[in-house]
Amino acid sequence: MDENINEVISDLKSYLEYLKGMGIHSLPISGTVRGQPNPSRVMTLEEVRKELGDCKRCKLHRTRRTIVFGEGNERATLMFIGEGPGYDEDVQGRPFVGKAGQLLTKIIESIKLSREEVYIANIVKCRPPQNRNPEPEEIERCNPFLMKQILVIQPKIICALGTFAAQTLLKTGSKISDLRGKMFDLEGIKVIPTYHPAFLLRNPERKREVWEDMKKIAELIKTQ
Ligand code: SF4
Repeated sequence: MDENINEVISDLKSYLEYLKGMGIHSLPISGTVRGQPNPSRVMTLEEVRKELGDCKRCKLHRTRRTIVFGEGNERATLMFIGEGPGYDEDVQGRPFVGKAGQLLTKIIESIKLSREEVYIANIVKCRPPQNRNPEPEEIERCNPFLMKQILVIQPKIICALGTFAAQTLLKTGSKISDLRGKMFDLEGIKVIPTYHPAFLLRNPERKREVWEDMKKIAELIKTQ
């Protein structure tokens, strides 16, 4: 019995350390038991959005038009996380609405789901100027809000789209080409990295690999 309690305490400690490392110092959820349904979510996505406010936590706020918070089903089983908003997203305030977004919609529909059934977000919520890569400090400032979104939604599966999403979520420096096709664990959530739709637009010959990853996700969803 003591051994069991020690195991639970050590598990809890490492989870809290993990959250601290992601910049989260208070939990939006009460009464959560890992791996169990959580009927007492005390924070909603609307409240996370309210807390984000007219965010000026990193320098991306200076050049953005709109904050692209994320959209979709607050109870989604599957969440897609990309890199950051581009021009169209910045103008419309919605994630993945440009050409890459249209391809993502097709990818989602290929496994018989709709955009409304999943949740779509990005590593950073404001457009990096000229679509440059987000900088480590920008990712660090924005990440606590993405983590809170994940805590509220509690997806079973996250599909990380591209290098920055995969590297940030998995805390690794590995290349997306080495990560895709594999499955990882993020505190009980299955993370499946795949190529970013924008990369597929430039390299259509890689679509087959994404299709393989999506088939894996579709199979996983059936077991949830
Ligand atoms: S990218 Fe994130 S942290 Fe930076 S200003 Fe936008 S919302 Fe705030």
